[in-house]
Amino acid sequence: MRRPFIAGNWKMNTTKAEGVALVKGVAEGNTAGDAVEVAVCAPSVYLDAVATAAAGKVGVGAQNCYHEASGAFTGEISAAMAKDIGCQYVILGHSERRHIFGASNSDVCKKVHAVLAAGLTPIVCVGELLEEREAGKTADVVAEQMYGSLAGVSAEQMNSVVIAYEPVWAIGTGKVATPEQAEEVHAGIRALMTAKYGEAISESVRIQYGGSVKPDNAAELLSQPNIDGALVGGASLKADSFLGIIAGATK
Ligand code: PEP
Repeated sequence: MRRPFIAGNWKMNTTKAEGVALVKGVAEGNTAGDAVEVAVCAPSVYLDAVATAAAGKVGVGAQNCYHEASGAFTGEISAAMAKDIGCQYVILGHSERRHIFGASNSDVCKKVHAVLAAGLTPIVCVGELLEEREAGKTADVVAEQMYGSLAGVSAEQMNSVVIAYEPVWAIGTGKVATPEQAEEVHAGIRALMTAKYGEAISESVRIQYGGSVKPDNAAELLSQPNIDGALVGGASLKADSFLGIIAGATK
């Protein structure tokens, strides 16, 4: 059994006070208990305050990091720094990092290794553009991102990796993938992992869906056999809607 994992990606939103209030609201309102793993990924400058406010009741993640451990890399944070202030997760290869900031699969891969070495869980995002889907290239694009981003990751390390399938056309657009569209890609991702790591590992890795998940579509998406959670952008910015999605994981 894979435990559902719901993570909020706040992106470049909230003030410090809003972030602290939001994570407290999630912690206080979450009635799912151990049945669902829950985390919020806050802007890096607020991670310390958010992790303190979360008080261990909600997991905390960074939205990115650099692959080097320390040094002259102005503006970057390391995986060890994220760990030092109480993070358990780092989102890597989010489509906004890939398409706005030019992150390549090889960049993502170096970060995956750094995050694993720091003892944190990378949430590795993959997903196709609308034109790639329309050209019938979804499976190829996702396979290239999976193999490129996870190069050199061992079967044992895969136990600490979470995959997020996020079709780029569904992120922040209100256009959610149908449960069937999402399940088809999730099943394909699991088949890739089976081929590379064997069935036992593949069956244990969680694959989140991301892209316009809301309380009213979460339960149906999460009921698909290979959808093990959600990475949530817009709807994670209000405690009520994020809690509604967490509730959808218990149905
Ligand atoms: C995301 O940013 O990872 C995301 C899925 O955003 P949204 O839920 O707003 O589509």
